[in-house]
Amino acid sequence: MDLKTLYREVILDHYKQPRNTAELRNPNREAKCRNPSCGDKISVQLSIEDGRVTDVAMLGNGCAISQASASMMTEAVKGRSIEDVEAVMAEFSEMIVKGSPDFDRARLGDLVIMEGVARLHARVRCAMCGWSALEAALHDPGAEINLDNEDGMPASSRG
Ligand code: ZN
Repeated sequence: MDLKTLYREVILDHYKQPRNTAELRNPNREAKCRNPSCGDKISVQLSIEDGRVTDVAMLGNGCAISQASASMMTEAVKGRSIEDVEAVMAEFSEMIVKGSPDFDRARLGDLVIMEGVARLHARVRCAMCGWSALEAALHDPGAEINLDNEDGMPASSRG
């Protein structure tokens, strides 16, 4: 199976059966992200105990890339320390937003399958929607991020 086929299979698998979509009973952090240019809307809920993400949920709807990326995000952060989560967020952003080849592959693990999105500029925001909600849940709980207003996204992904 070549990488393109694998990419499509993984995206479709997560899109059809997104992981961790059951609303948490007692989340202590939550934030939302909207990507109006595509129509993606994702909420991320976190249960954080002793500096660790003990549970995570992603709720919402949108295109296949936004849903698959958010679904993979939940698998990547569940059970991890906040420190690890911050590191994974930074590497994912390095890969997708900056399109840098210098990201930490070992740390990203299965998430490297999303690398191709960096070349599809119009989809970068789709891929980042769940991650932006995650970042807001950690740093600005209760926030509702609108990616149309965000700096730091590549100019070519605007419009
Ligand atoms: Zn989208």
